[in-house]
Amino acid sequence: MVKHTTINNSTGERRCSCFKRCGGCQLDMPYKQQLEWKQSKAQRMLSRFCKVEQIIPMQSPYNYRNKVQTVYRRDRSGRLISGVFQSSTRTLTATQDCFLEDTAAQSIVAELKKLFVSFRIMPYDERTGRGILRHTLIRTAKQTGQIMLVIVTKGAMFPSKHNFVKALLQKCPQVTTVVQNICDDPMPLTLGERNNVLYGSGKIADELCSCKFLISPASFYQVNPVQTQTLYDTAVKAADIAEGKRVLDAYCGVGTIGIVCAKQGAQVVGVESNKSAVRDAIANARLNKLNNIRFVNDDAAQFICESAYKGEKFDTIIMDPPRAGSTEQFISAVAAISPHSVVYVSCKIETLERDLKLFAKCGYKAQLIQPVDMFPHTTGIENVVLLKKKVKENTNGQQN
Ligand code: SAH
Repeated sequence: MVKHTTINNSTGERRCSCFKRCGGCQLDMPYKQQLEWKQSKAQRMLSRFCKVEQIIPMQSPYNYRNKVQTVYRRDRSGRLISGVFQSSTRTLTATQDCFLEDTAAQSIVAELKKLFVSFRIMPYDERTGRGILRHTLIRTAKQTGQIMLVIVTKGAMFPSKHNFVKALLQKCPQVTTVVQNICDDPMPLTLGERNNVLYGSGKIADELCSCKFLISPASFYQVNPVQTQTLYDTAVKAADIAEGKRVLDAYCGVGTIGIVCAKQGAQVVGVESNKSAVRDAIANARLNKLNNIRFVNDDAAQFICESAYKGEKFDTIIMDPPRAGSTEQFISAVAAISPHSVVYVSCKIETLERDLKLFAKCGYKAQLIQPVDMFPHTTGIENVVLLKKKVKENTNGQQN
């Protein structure tokens, strides 16, 4: 049996005994030291663009992940074990009390394991083609307490599914919706296109920055809800929102940042490539009774290029791309549209550094770099960067 415990040392810090095997955390050091490590990396990589502010820490940096993905296997003795895949492999590390994952989700996984055994739902085995269970995904909404369980299966078969859900709800009444997701993609931890709602609405609702958000199984939603509040406050403050200001929320997900800006009176357009996220974003605008925001399902760079061509204007562009960062095409299209400011929310410092160089070439200078610790115990560093268009001087030394 894999021993997996967390240990409280004398300073109250917790240490994970499967640290090296799992790969979920990368910084096995006290939290204060983690912050120093992140601060010095941010300074080393970004201080040539502008002063780097002190990283905003998380008050209680444990069990913050509201999205818990779990894989299941039978061990040599035939017992069902659960855990995570080691980074970029298909080797399962058995985990029991991971200190990143939400604790309510962990207790649901413990019950699920017993139920999978008693309903004879076996993990899918690629070599033999037997079994149906690929993985489970649990999303918890911190403010509303709603919980979504997604059971991802190979193929549509799910024997006794209604009895299974009945038994599950008896053990875990805190679950507000259960979805079967059918996925034939061999890539680990992916979701398929087809959802079969077995209980509840198939979505959960959460609240952030006084706005409400509906989230579907496949939509992106920030994984650390406590720090997201701080992150969005920082980004919206940097965007200097005022009544009527024209804002583009690029890579908008379920519309979160744009909706917060619209609630403060801005005229907002959100652009996002994931269809399901756009559907959620439209529903979210309605839920918050906003008619000063609209959403476009498109590639962000493509949309900005077309907007630039049509002569559309935005005062501020907020961008929050995935870890791969933005693209040269996107950044040159932004420069063509020439907003007064750009607020770049980045979850990967290496791609941020690369993109800030491109922005500098296009005449945008960083005025604020604010790191926010969204991912304690990992090497991830989130930053909010405010960029402003450099003001050109004319030949008389006056500013244009
Ligand atoms: N701002 C949102 C989402 C950020 S995650 C939030 O805070 O929740 C990045 C988002 O970019 C994801 O929703 C992803 O689907 C979307 N995305 C990725 N590539 C894109 C592209 N080329 N054009 C538009 N959206 C893209």
